[in-house]
Amino acid sequence: MKVGIIRCMQTEDFCPGTGDFFVVAKKFGAFDGVEGDITITGFTNCGGCPGKRAVLRARELVKRGADTIAFASCIQKGTPIGYPCPFAKKMRAIVEEEVGPDVTILDWTH
Ligand code: SF4
Repeated sequence: MKVGIIRCMQTEDFCPGTGDFFVVAKKFGAFDGVEGDITITGFTNCGGCPGKRAVLRARELVKRGADTIAFASCIQKGTPIGYPCPFAKKMRAIVEEEVGPDVTILDWTH
């Protein structure tokens, strides 16, 4: 798996993404059961509210080889501050439309 991770820009001050790197390395959380190596193609943020720029970020990640786009848990689960993104559903939809059916989308990481 080659995964590009998109995180919440607003949450960066609270979390440097340690948990995401950990679960990829250990194959925990959303990566449990993944066969073979997992490479992180890129780790970027959504571009800020209201999340429209996530499309551009996802496009670049796929251009650079990502076969999977993972939305970090800060977006839909609100980790670690209990504040989910109010734009998450729409953001996911436009990213999914952009990257197409060949790219797997994960809605959380851990
Ligand atoms: S759009 Fe959502 S994920 Fe992006 S910065 Fe705003 S709250 Fe965070």
